[in-house]
Amino acid sequence: MGIPQSPVSVDLPPGSVAVVLGTRPEIIKLAHIIRLLGPAARVIHTGQHYDANLSSVFFRAFDLPLPTLFLEVGGEPRGIQIGEATSRLTQMFLDDPPRAVVVQGDTNAVLAGSLAANASDIPLVHVEAGLRSYDRAMPEEHNRVVCDHLSDLCLAPTGTSAANLAKEGIAGSRVAITGNPVVEALRSLLPPADQRSQMLSRHGLQSNRFILSTFHRPENVDDRHTWETILSDLAALPLPVVLPLHPRSRHRAASFGLQPLLDQIRVVDPLPYPQFLALLSECALAVSDSGGVQEEVSVVKRPMVVVRNSTERPEVLGTFAVLRQPGDGVGEAVIQILQSLQDTHHQLAQTPSPYGDGTASQRSVTLIERLAGA
Ligand code: UDP
Repeated sequence: MGIPQSPVSVDLPPGSVAVVLGTRPEIIKLAHIIRLLGPAARVIHTGQHYDANLSSVFFRAFDLPLPTLFLEVGGEPRGIQIGEATSRLTQMFLDDPPRAVVVQGDTNAVLAGSLAANASDIPLVHVEAGLRSYDRAMPEEHNRVVCDHLSDLCLAPTGTSAANLAKEGIAGSRVAITGNPVVEALRSLLPPADQRSQMLSRHGLQSNRFILSTFHRPENVDDRHTWETILSDLAALPLPVVLPLHPRSRHRAASFGLQPLLDQIRVVDPLPYPQFLALLSECALAVSDSGGVQEEVSVVKRPMVVVRNSTERPEVLGTFAVLRQPGDGVGEAVIQILQSLQDTHHQLAQTPSPYGDGTASQRSVTLIERLAGA
């Protein structure tokens, strides 16, 4: 367990801003918003990702106070996670109403926070609003659509996401384009070049001569054939593949008898954010199904093969990323990038990130405080 078992007792300022989160990417993208909110921030962790490698190491990396943990719902079926978290959050909001509730992204914690805020008549802010994969097979798509429609303030990272909201009738003063806070999160914790090269040596890696990979989406790791196809593709690549493996993906691989394939890849535990960023900025390319990594490659200027059926981050397709379905040319896409790697890196170094200039958190906090009547 990475976060305290019992709620941390905190002296809450009157009328705080509740920041509800439950997973690694939410901590990363809300870190600077929490810092800028200062003592007004009341951070509530639902416990959706309760593994230490996915929670407390991230609070420490950003030097954030440990959150109030109220529920260890991780591992429960989705409906139970959402229902129990909504119920507990609603009780917390009734006991001590915050001035606003802030959620980020598309997890079950986001949906629970949104429902509880709405039911308690508390203004709701959605950071990273308006992303759409238009893929109804993804639970995240349902979470983000419901959250956007309940939100009083949708903070869209790009013009594309704001346009998605407009198509659904969410517009005007309910929407602001802020950029994505991942830009400043990354910049604040990317280790300097000398530390990065020390880290590469420790791992026996050379800059631009390895592939960084992550996989955790149910569509990829919950089906034996799909997960096996992906791991076989990774094992056949011509450069070392470093795979910091999410606990659910490792568990699935073990239960599907895929350990022999994992043995052909450099599998490591999930990495703390600075270490992961060091590898991402020094790799030849990334192969991953992660949402956040699709954004981060545009900041560290590395190419990526996105292995998914669909993406809600079309801004990077055709520049930083190509999309391939599992089993549909993943290896070929990697080889194609490797064939002109230097040119690709050079070209990407000149390509601006579509996710903003590192001011998204500041812009968000100004708007949150305005909404919350600070
Ligand atoms: N990440 C990390 N360590 C790792 C793997 C990923 O710090 O070993 C970071 C990564 O940089 C990104 C975030 O975790 O910011 C992505 O999380 P994940 O892929 O679990 O979620 P998603 O972004 O797909 O919602």
